[in-house]
Amino acid sequence: MTQNHIAFFQSVVGSTYVLTSASDLESYGRDWTKVYKPDPMAIVLPASTDQVSKIARYCSENQLSLVPSGGRTGLAGGSVATNKEVVISLNRMSKIEKIDCIGMTVACEAGVTLQQLQEAAADNDVYFALDLAAKGSCHIGGNIATNAGGVKFVRYGGMRELVLGLEVVLPSGEVLNMNHSLRKNNTGYDLKHLFIGSEGTLGIITRATMKLNSKPGNLVVSLMATSFFAEVPKILERCNMMRAPITAFEFFTDIAHNVVLDNNPNLKTPFAEKHACYVLLEIDAGKGGDDVIEPILESLFNDGLINDAVVAGTAAQMTEFWSHRENISESIAAAGFAHKNDISIPIDQLGAFIAGLNALIAKEASDLICIVFGHIADGNLHLNYLAPKGTELSLFKDSVKVLEKKVFDLIKAHEGSISAEHGIGLLKKKDLPYSRTASEIEIMRGIKKIFDPQNIMNPGKIFDC
Ligand SMILES: Cc1cc2nc3c(=O)[nH]c(=O)nc-3n(C[C@H](O)[C@H](O)[C@H](O)COP(=O)(O)OP(=O)(O)OC[C@H]3O[C@@H](n4cnc5c(N)ncnc54)[C@H](O)[C@@H]3O)c2cc1C
Repeated sequence: MTQNHIAFFQSVVGSTYVLTSASDLESYGRDWTKVYKPDPMAIVLPASTDQVSKIARYCSENQLSLVPSGGRTGLAGGSVATNKEVVISLNRMSKIEKIDCIGMTVACEAGVTLQQLQEAAADNDVYFALDLAAKGSCHIGGNIATNAGGVKFVRYGGMRELVLGLEVVLPSGEVLNMNHSLRKNNTGYDLKHLFIGSEGTLGIITRATMKLNSKPGNLVVSLMATSFFAEVPKILERCNMMRAPITAFEFFTDIAHNVVLDNNPNLKTPFAEKHACYVLLEIDAGKGGDDVIEPILESLFNDGLINDAVVAGTAAQMTEFWSHRENISESIAAAGFAHKNDISIPIDQLGAFIAGLNALIAKEASDLICIVFGHIADGNLHLNYLAPKGTELSLFKDSVKVLEKKVFDLIKAHEGSISAEHGIGLLKKKDLPYSRTASEIEIMRGIKKIFDPQNIMNPGKIFDC
């Protein structure tokens, strides 16, 4: 039977583009979580919307489950295939179709990588504002399906703010064309938003139209050092009150910094001494340059909110400062197994939450290595519990589970979210009720039934049907 299915897929996309070797099943069947054992039936690489539609229709007629797959950098187990699913990889659908510098829009296929899109925009002297460390691998389709946030969210928002239109293939094979470039369109329910953040559970995104922005005028990057985590919201408040034109405001602890320095021997700290926490502030200073950043740093120094600060003097130094932040995830992966929490808190409650989190970690997990960093101006923190290489993983996972429950209770008490930007996938499915009410989850199930009555689109992800 499997052979018949594979023969059909080959007839649609060509035999070269149906992969069944053990190594392909292994690598296309997993994402960055590396928690689940992949076991897909086959990997199919269509080259057009029409081919995606034919595959989906066939899977629907034969009750085969489908897993849409982008760059597989997901951190929630959304694109893993563990149960003989057909993985549809959008790798071959990588055309940038149009860059419009009047309407400031870009249209492309879903398999374009984020970096390709950023570079194409830059070649046209405009700017695509989503940015994250996995940009070289992640796809625009994956970014939309996860409603990716990233490091420029504080200024430009995430995918939900950037997407104008979508083309989606439904599990039935029907092509839903919502791929408009309109900025304003008040004609009933805006269905595209159901697919943004749907983690491949409603349909396969094949094409998108998104907003472009003007290139930032004059970026200035400063790395600041402080003694206390609790000062970081105060630093943000001061920047806001001094009308800093913030384009990024990122935070990491000394433990995160050490992991990066250990894994990147060529990268040196710009500070003479060690400090407990660091903030990377990027502003678009326009014509102001140093005149904009200096009074802000002076004010932070004068009030003892920071101990030290350096301002990048060249483009190379700016890139170097960013690499202290952008290398954190990869350096953690190189250091051992990490259990990750990607959480958000109402920004005005960050101070109280951080105090509670510090107390919790000191009481419950003083022997755990907890690496904290994130897009703190969005209220988004990444908590990574690290099991260094050689650790007995089952013992580690047991102690993390106890701590995680208490952290989630704390998040709930602050009306935060257990997933700020990575999504739910398989990894956080059991925890969804911390952040969504029973009524919300029931309505989500109802929406899923409308688009996917047979439950063949990425089944078992976000919630069970
Ligand atoms: C080093 C590193 C840094 C990261 N930094 C950030 C960050 O700052 N902000 C952030 O938000 N995330 C971040 N991530 C997480 C990840 O990069 C994002 O979730 C990204 O958007 C996933 O894109 P992808 O193409 O790799 O998707 P995949 O991992 O392939 O898939 C993710 C989900 O989307 C679905 N999907 C993929 N393509 C499609 C499609 N065409 N149609 C329908 N569904 C689809 C999959 O089924 C799955 O559920 C980071 C990851 C890494 C490894």
